[in-house]
Amino acid sequence: MPGFIADRIVESLKEANRYPHPDLVESFRAAAARYNGVDPANIYPAPGGDGALRQVIYNLTDPGDSVLINNPSYSMYRVYCSTHGLNMLQVNLIEGQEWWHENFREFLELSKRADMVLLDDPNNPTGSPMLGGKEDTISQLASTTKGFVMVDEAYYEFSAYTVSKMIREFPNLIVLRTMSKAFSLAGLRVGYLIANEEVVDALMKASTPFDIALPGLVAGIEALNRPDYAFRNVSEIRKNREYLISSLRSLGLKVYNSLTNFVLVKTQRDIISPLLSAGVAIRNPMKGFYRISVGTKEQCDTVIRVLGESIEDRHPQ
Ligand code: PMP
Repeated sequence: MPGFIADRIVESLKEANRYPHPDLVESFRAAAARYNGVDPANIYPAPGGDGALRQVIYNLTDPGDSVLINNPSYSMYRVYCSTHGLNMLQVNLIEGQEWWHENFREFLELSKRADMVLLDDPNNPTGSPMLGGKEDTISQLASTTKGFVMVDEAYYEFSAYTVSKMIREFPNLIVLRTMSKAFSLAGLRVGYLIANEEVVDALMKASTPFDIALPGLVAGIEALNRPDYAFRNVSEIRKNREYLISSLRSLGLKVYNSLTNFVLVKTQRDIISPLLSAGVAIRNPMKGFYRISVGTKEQCDTVIRVLGESIEDRHPQ
């Protein structure tokens, strides 16, 4: 997190004995609206991407409804749908050589039976584009689904495509954003939804102006008003990501391309233990697949070195 945001947070803490002033929520909505070229009335602020996701699932579906997702996709979709008593409809992604692909024909077919669609684009954990912001496919999906289509653009700043402008045409389209990734504010819990005014109004009624704590609101406003640091961050991570991908491939590992701040590796080896011993924690989203976050160049070098050594250990030349 850059210094100018930290300074602003510290300054705001003098007022932390009070509830956050509701004007701060309005300033956040105005800043997010400017950043996205929509109206403040189209912005619903939330405590992180997950806070936004819970509001969508808990308020805009009824227990017993069917929700369509890709498999794999962001793991919390299933968790929140299950706690709300929803049925899951799922379509398997197709594993390609360098990317994973959406089975759009089947997805569209099942969307006819879905009360809600949750689509992370780019996809977590594969890092691949799904509909890639293509207007014709989004239009088809938004028209065939009975209820809401939520496009989760948590990695928007990395992928550089969005469907946010289409909310004007499709009142059932909701776009999710988080400030945890490109803006480096994960610990402050700030995210938002971009949606039709009536949807935003309904969700605002189900919330208080205090859902995001003061430091998060203040940080979110500063960051959205001065997003240059996030763009620099994104270009650095993209560079490091391509370096990490090509270096891991040189070690003989199967690594997919990615439009996010992580890469997915497919291997039967245990790569968690050697990395953990070197202080690097990675995720194991599916059997035989590992998700590695792209960090600084030095952190990427550590991953490459440790995996290189562990591969050499098993296959001495
Ligand atoms: N959607 C996707 C696709 C994500 O990967 C994540 C975070 N891993 C979220 C939503 C949740 O974002 P946050 O961390 O801001 O709660």
